[in-house]
Amino acid sequence: MEKMRFAVITKEKNAEIHERTIPELKDDEVLIKIEACNICTTDYEFWSGRRKNQPTPMAGGHENSGIIVKKGKAVSDYFSIGDRVGIMLTESCGVCPDCRKGNDYACRYKGETFKESDDGYFGFFGFSTYKTAKSEFLFKFTSDIPADEAGFIEPLSTAIRSIKIGDIKPEENVVIIGGGTMGLLNAQVARAYGARVIISELFESKVEVAKELGFTEFLNPKSETFKEDLKEILKDGRVNAIIICVGSGAANEQALSIAELDTRLLYFAAEYPPSEIKIDTNTLHYKRYKLIGVVGSDRSDFQEAAEMLDNGHVKVDKLIEKRFKLDEIQDAFKLASTPGTFRVSVHTWE
Ligand SMILES: [Zn+2]
Ligand SMILES: [Zn+2]
Repeated sequence: MEKMRFAVITKEKNAEIHERTIPELKDDEVLIKIEACNICTTDYEFWSGRRKNQPTPMAGGHENSGIIVKKGKAVSDYFSIGDRVGIMLTESCGVCPDCRKGNDYACRYKGETFKESDDGYFGFFGFSTYKTAKSEFLFKFTSDIPADEAGFIEPLSTAIRSIKIGDIKPEENVVIIGGGTMGLLNAQVARAYGARVIISELFESKVEVAKELGFTEFLNPKSETFKEDLKEILKDGRVNAIIICVGSGAANEQALSIAELDTRLLYFAAEYPPSEIKIDTNTLHYKRYKLIGVVGSDRSDFQEAAEMLDNGHVKVDKLIEKRFKLDEIQDAFKLASTPGTFRVSVHTWE
């Protein structure tokens, strides 16, 4: 029986490589040779101890892609051996009213996020050499996109959901707070949907990457004239939407300070520990602010994400900070936990 190798967080600041027999393939499943898995904030903040919301041993990682190497009998002809696929994170049931209406994230019958496997592990087995998955949760790439870039399908799908929930329309003015990985994914999707995008970012290295992606309008969050700087850019235009892509009380406060009549404020980032937003109800009433929470994505978002990556409407090559081998998982988590870094990618077969 062939084995799979995978990274497991056993305790704070400790990840190790374990081995197990590959689970037997069910009729509706495929076996995927995972090639790359990028480290999400969820992963490295659990590794570093900042978040304590996961059980151990945690075989995590979910921003991955791979090649189909085996197909169960009941898998659609749409998928072939050799296809590169990304994998949906939420295992929604597909048949309940929420799922049927396209709201997978709301599914009450979805698989547990941290389900325990028969051999006692939790998690999605992303940092892994192989993974079995139900074909209904797979999304096929049609271009020859590299594995680590294809791994962006999951975070990109959440940015697509964000732009849809935020109802971003052509020629609207959208301020992105935070030009890190998630900020620049939101920025690119907002632009693809026709919006004008202004990015607020402190790190010069991130601003440089944003410029390489074609963005031209920036704010410095530390500027004493932050509000005036924005007015200068917008002239008579309004702030239609603000997407807060950093988990920080200061960022939330700054976002509120630039909101005006009818502004939609999208809270995209989780924050550990969370801060509180202070706003009086009259301001909310008279200014008609819309405070919108954003998390997760549905299968339509995943499909769109695959196509945006295939078509190059969203570019992610510059959002990869560094690549590591599976055996270097500790170094990978260490770098990912360093402020100012983009996505760290783990190449599981190198
Ligand atoms: Zn993620
Ligand atoms: Zn469902």
